[in-house]
Amino acid sequence: MSTYNIAAPETAVYNHTILAGEGWAHEIKAGQIFRIVDLEGNQAVDTLFYSLADTAERYSAADTITAQRNIYLTAGTVLMSNLRRPMLTILEDNCGRHDTLGGACAQESNQVRYAIEKRHMHACRNSFLLAVRDPKWNIGKRDITANINFFMNVPVTPEGKLTFEDGISDASKFVEMRAEMDVICVISNCPQLNNPCNAYNPTPVQVLIWDAQ
Ligand SMILES: [Zn+2]
Repeated sequence: MSTYNIAAPETAVYNHTILAGEGWAHEIKAGQIFRIVDLEGNQAVDTLFYSLADTAERYSAADTITAQRNIYLTAGTVLMSNLRRPMLTILEDNCGRHDTLGGACAQESNQVRYAIEKRHMHACRNSFLLAVRDPKWNIGKRDITANINFFMNVPVTPEGKLTFEDGISDASKFVEMRAEMDVICVISNCPQLNNPCNAYNPTPVQVLIWDAQ
């Protein structure tokens, strides 16, 4: 049983609901605690992190997997940058597993995976770019790299194949992490309707930040 001390939402310095299918970007300072809540359950939260000091340093799925020798993310995982430096540490996770292999949906992949008629549908890569359209972020199309899919269930089969499965998350499940450096967090609250990553029904998620204790 976890003895982790869960902070009350009323004491958060930031509290925001990202609507279904919307994007979001926000700074999180070193030492601050960041929580993402899957409000209604079974929602994929596509997430990227960049160093605030230099956005050329960013979350690296490959370095994170290599460092922890595990393809799934959960409590204890240190999210590593492409310079092999700790960006955030996952402190608490009552969902139990998060994906960093499946990538983000795009108009192009929707077209290839599903049908030409799916091309117009909303996709995470567009939401990422809309979220960082303010020039102050200094993040563009080439910076959208392999991401985290919080609450998304992408098991690897014994044959080494990736499958998008119905979620293992549930309403009010959350993941909480501590920033180890100043970061910009960019989220696409996934609008995907063609596979079960959102249970075919995208829903809102909540993001909260607490100052360092
Ligand atoms: Zn998506």
